[in-house]
Amino acid sequence: MESSDTLRNKCAACYRQFNKMEHLVEHMRISYHSVHEPTCGICGKHCRSFESMREHLIGPLPKAECERVFKERGCDICLTILGSRNALRVHRETCQLSRGNAGLLHRMGNLGIYDEIKVDNNRAKVVALACKMVGGGSDGSLDLCARVCLIDEYENIIFQTYVKPHLPVTNFRYETTGVRPEFLRDAMPVRQVSRKIQDFLCNGEAIWKIRSRGGRARILVGHGLDHDLKCLDMEYPPILIRDTAKYPPLMKTSKLSNSLKYITKAYLGYDIQTGIQDPYDDCVATIRLYMRMRSQFHKWENYPLATDPQNRNNFAQWRQSELERMSPEELLEISRSDYSCWCLDSRDPSA
Ligand SMILES: [Zn+2]
Ligand SMILES: [Zn+2]
Ligand SMILES: [Zn+2]
Ligand SMILES: [Zn+2]
Repeated sequence: MESSDTLRNKCAACYRQFNKMEHLVEHMRISYHSVHEPTCGICGKHCRSFESMREHLIGPLPKAECERVFKERGCDICLTILGSRNALRVHRETCQLSRGNAGLLHRMGNLGIYDEIKVDNNRAKVVALACKMVGGGSDGSLDLCARVCLIDEYENIIFQTYVKPHLPVTNFRYETTGVRPEFLRDAMPVRQVSRKIQDFLCNGEAIWKIRSRGGRARILVGHGLDHDLKCLDMEYPPILIRDTAKYPPLMKTSKLSNSLKYITKAYLGYDIQTGIQDPYDDCVATIRLYMRMRSQFHKWENYPLATDPQNRNNFAQWRQSELERMSPEELLEISRSDYSCWCLDSRDPSA
């Protein structure tokens, strides 16, 4: 039985119930609930990630009413609820992607190496980067970048090349990389590759001056970019990095990263990284995931982040007694996100 107290102390976002109001206030201080969280289209419950929303809708212990509606007219890729079965059929045709035309470009891409950055692509505001690594060190476990690809948001190749590592390769990992020794013999040295990419990304801005999204420097999309940038011995300002491995809505319920292979299958509906892997396919998958997340429609807020100075300590500035007198809805109203939702990029007039 739910007492009226636990109903009053029910989180307006995730619907958790608390025996005491002070416990709900405590929960709100650390939850960073916001309009940017994935939200169930049926009951309005906020979830930390799409994976926890999938659990809420499909199981193993789904909410019965939401499961029933979802089975009838919910998209199992983007988890949106459509108005009718027919609307769902139409929606699925654009929601489920395939390697399709990416495959064509990919074959064209393989005909030549684009080792000069194409000048006509200079207007790209968002670019995706992916690398393929071969092995170095005595046991071949040290990752060395041997292939790199950079594409724009329309999936055009901007730059693609084999890379000559600065250390000897001890394992070419041919089954997954397709890299043979002769491909790297006269390839571009890693230092030169990094320099070209960094210049292209900064787009005329000095790297140490980049502090906001508003300038000329480009947004960099990828999966596990820390590792890619480390292998390229390159730095890029975090404010311009959009990493599908670290974006909370795409992470596991356990807050660990998902593989790119998994999220591509789950949220775009097709397979990648089967057999020999092309960094172009990884670029396409990450930029598609980024564009999807970026196009989400979320309510406009003037200061969307808990860390925005205007919101600083948005709970701490209130007295505990004042917070305890608020309704769960009022508490949610003053709560802000602890990550920067990618929908905010679409509101930036310069991006
Ligand atoms: Zn909650
Ligand atoms: Zn958002
Ligand atoms: Zn629901
Ligand atoms: Zn969908």
